[in-house]
Amino acid sequence: MPSARTPGIANRLVCPTCGNDEEFFELANDVIQTSYYIQNSDGSFTYDSDTYQVNGEVQLFCGTCQEDLSYYHQRFKEMIF
Ligand SMILES: [Zn+2]
Repeated sequence: MPSARTPGIANRLVCPTCGNDEEFFELANDVIQTSYYIQNSDGSFTYDSDTYQVNGEVQLFCGTCQEDLSYYHQRFKEMIF
């Protein structure tokens, strides 16, 4: 059955469990996070930036029902602009 909500776009990612097609999140496993700070003249610190090193797999989940959609992850990454 073609979706009436997405005319003309055949390959929108849709959660097969709940039908959500708007909200998704990635979960990165085994991440080393490094946070950089600058110390000010009064001894306080100001946050500068973070770097991340992902050593484990990155999973994709539905943002509505939390279904594991990792089998869509490659396609998901190709469609991030
Ligand atoms: Zn869902």
